[in-house]
Amino acid sequence: MQTRNFIDGQWADSHAGRTFENRNPARHDEVIGRWPASDAGDVARAVAAAARAFRSWRLVPAPKRGELLFQVGRLLAERKEEIARVMTREMGKVLPEARGDVQEGIDTAFYAAGEGRRLFGQTVQPELPNKAGYSLRQPIGVAGLITPWNFPLAIATWKMFPALVCGNTVLLKPASDVPASATLLFEVLEAAGLPPGVVNLVHGSGSQVGDPMVAHPDIKVLSFTGSTEVGKRIAQQCGGTLKRCSLELGGKNAQIVLDDADLDLALEGALWGAFGTTGQRCTATSRLILHRKIAAEFTERLVARARALRLGDGLEAGVDVGPVVNAGRIPAIAEYVEIGQREGARLVLGGGAARDGELARGHFFQPTVFDRVTPGMRIAQEEIFGPVVALLTCGSADEAVEILNGTLYGLSSSIYTRDLNRAQKAIRDIEAGIVYVNGPTIGAEVHLPFGGVKETGNGHREAGTAALDVFSEWKTVYIDYSGKLQKAQIDS
Ligand code: NAP
Repeated sequence: MQTRNFIDGQWADSHAGRTFENRNPARHDEVIGRWPASDAGDVARAVAAAARAFRSWRLVPAPKRGELLFQVGRLLAERKEEIARVMTREMGKVLPEARGDVQEGIDTAFYAAGEGRRLFGQTVQPELPNKAGYSLRQPIGVAGLITPWNFPLAIATWKMFPALVCGNTVLLKPASDVPASATLLFEVLEAAGLPPGVVNLVHGSGSQVGDPMVAHPDIKVLSFTGSTEVGKRIAQQCGGTLKRCSLELGGKNAQIVLDDADLDLALEGALWGAFGTTGQRCTATSRLILHRKIAAEFTERLVARARALRLGDGLEAGVDVGPVVNAGRIPAIAEYVEIGQREGARLVLGGGAARDGELARGHFFQPTVFDRVTPGMRIAQEEIFGPVVALLTCGSADEAVEILNGTLYGLSSSIYTRDLNRAQKAIRDIEAGIVYVNGPTIGAEVHLPFGGVKETGNGHREAGTAALDVFSEWKTVYIDYSGKLQKAQIDS
């Protein structure tokens, strides 16, 4: 595997020659590789290459750009297993989930490729005679993409493929916890034959690479996925030059379980939502809002099932929950456990690092459940981003929705009920970008919009045709073939 940046169609070390190390969080003694610790100089080179390539890439017909993305999709499918294994080794999610992450990239490639033959605009009947009017999408320029570590391939491709099919060129900075997955994606892009400079990859930290990207005047659109804290800072910086920026940020997602719900189904959903990807999904279920009539039984069954989850190296068959992404996450999650206890919630399962046997080789945290949580507690308000779920209770569907809405975030949500009327009201009243009925808070598909309201973002969406709006400008065209001056809106 390459362990360099990819700039202007060439693999290259950082100009300063510094590197950083990437280790397996399930086996901390295993070094995966060393990648360039790049800086503003490398960003400048990559942006210059992307700006040069934009001059010709924007003129390539969109269906032809789409054909290249079809080829990318085919090559990703051929290398799916290899990429998934590397992903599990570098960030810990269990192999079936890593395969799903790659599959999301494949699906996005084919979906965006198809857009090459659509990219529809509007044709209207103008109000004046002998006149035509239509709108078309145009690319913006160099797109800067900054991505988190929890979906190394899916999120990078959600941004990159719509950007490319619209005619932009791109610079990707992946999170420094996942340089290997991004590198394999670029090996595929190179093999697919994308022209030099159209796609560029610069490894390194948020401060040394991400920050200069945000500030660079030739990056015309910036798409960021990560924490709300960093997202707010980026929004302020972009505001200074009115740079277009799309922000997909944190969540504090809840699953509601009403008294008429299919409890077996709701239990499966809660386990998958709370502990899948070790709770490190932006859409993870970090709150369960249980109707009082079923709360005791549901809690007991949830705790029993969560206790039985098998922790371990995600490459091993039968492992349910992998490690957290790095050593620093263990004290960060443990701090929330302390906060929850101090606030008066009851810790009913887990609560600390898991260090038995082989687990001592990695960074594992026990599946953790708090009950007797009240809506104002910090563990019910703040994103923990680990295998921790807070259980709250409610007396009605309306109260459940009120609790669900009572945070600063609004990404994903879920309600389990057999009552269509209650479900419909919840769909209407929940403040979130995504609502699942009788399904967990996780499980997005690539052809529908993805994103959230309130402090989860700034109004943009990824995936589906909504992603095209981030990476294109509308141009409106009027053609007057009357041969005389016609004045719109002026009485004649
Ligand atoms: P993060 O710390 O905000 O980092 C995200 C990316 O931004 C990384 O590539 C990081 O680089 C970079 N970065 C850090 N500081 C920066 C700065 N000052 N300027 C520019 N870039 C900077 O988030 P994370 O820990 O990777 O990811 C977890 C967060 O992402 C959670 O809050 C989760 O909810 C959110 N998330 C949201 C969605 C969504 O679609 N809404 C999806 C997935 C994750 P380095 O890490 O290399 O320093």
